[in-house]
Amino acid sequence: MPALEQLEQEFDRAWSDPEFRAEFQRLLSEYVGRPTPITEARRLSEETGLHVVVKREDLNHTGAHKINNALGQALLAMRMGKKRIIAETGAGQHGVATATVCAMFGLECEVYMGEEDTERQKLNVFRMKLLGAKVNPVSSGTKTLKDALNEAMRDWVTNVDSTHYIIGTAAGPHPYPYMVREFQRVIGDESRQQYLDRYGRLPDVAMACVGGGSNAIGFFAGFYEDEDVKLYGVEAGGHGLSSGAHAAPLSAGTPGVLHGSYSYLMQDEHGQVIGTHSVSAGLDYPGVGAEHSYLKDLGRAEYFAVTDEEALDALQWVAKAEGLITAFETAHAFAPLKDRTRLPEGTRVLVNMSGRGDKDMVTAAQILNL
Ligand SMILES: *Cc1c(COP(=O)(O)O)cnc(C)c1O
Repeated sequence: MPALEQLEQEFDRAWSDPEFRAEFQRLLSEYVGRPTPITEARRLSEETGLHVVVKREDLNHTGAHKINNALGQALLAMRMGKKRIIAETGAGQHGVATATVCAMFGLECEVYMGEEDTERQKLNVFRMKLLGAKVNPVSSGTKTLKDALNEAMRDWVTNVDSTHYIIGTAAGPHPYPYMVREFQRVIGDESRQQYLDRYGRLPDVAMACVGGGSNAIGFFAGFYEDEDVKLYGVEAGGHGLSSGAHAAPLSAGTPGVLHGSYSYLMQDEHGQVIGTHSVSAGLDYPGVGAEHSYLKDLGRAEYFAVTDEEALDALQWVAKAEGLITAFETAHAFAPLKDRTRLPEGTRVLVNMSGRGDKDMVTAAQILNL
């Protein structure tokens, strides 16, 4: 608790300091490559009878939205005088984003990663090492993301004087979900203004994929006050909700406690966390950020799931129709464009393309028979 309380105070101070904000903005622009554009998806629009526009977070340095948060938290760590950074990672995207900003700032970096994920994502392990980070394989539990998060928390509470823990999504204990939302809200604020400037109005629907929930919450936050803009979050349906093999706590979970927060969760009747499945390692987490749970209960956002198969179909469809190869995670956000019950003809949809697909091509080539 003292570590979390200190972090909350420091973040609030930093976030209301114009100099901190200016430095964050400067690096988002000069290093990350912001603002990312919005792109009208003409062929998807023609095929679906919708009006589809895409926010291009795939164009950020390191290929996804994760670096917005990694950069913000690294700046905060330096402000707190902490020179050692730790992080957890699943597929390795957050690990790579964190190792990248640590290299740029000259900070020591250690990344916890489930042993199984280090095998599945060898290339990202190599990238992190090349960037000067130390990768610690975690062999407890299911040897995946939630176990990596456990180990990172243990390290943090032991070394909190020297170390800042950069959580990679909008989950975990307060202030993380709030802080990560604030670092990611550039996605929503930017795209809202871009959409207004180009079309003179706002979209009917803003749609994003939800793992822990960081790209979606940053995107949604830009539209909270616009009550006519529907917010749709798409979870990983894996083999289907009825199969039990999925990672869709908002669609099929119940409220419970994991990693220091109370939120929708995949758990059994004894409160034990149950195993998850998704083709996309970045969505393969049994919990979700508490703010999404709140938005669901309020009815301000709606959440539903698409299966691995639907996501893989969408990946190929979007690639062929628009020349945009999405990450496995992101493909979930495009799959519902074919769903006429949820998106009637003529609906104006803004989809957040959270990341590009380069990291997934080896796996995709094994699954898809082209
Ligand atoms: C990690 C990742 C996600 C899922 O994480 P959120 O915190 O839910 O955004 C989605 N898309 C991409 C490209 C990712 O790398």
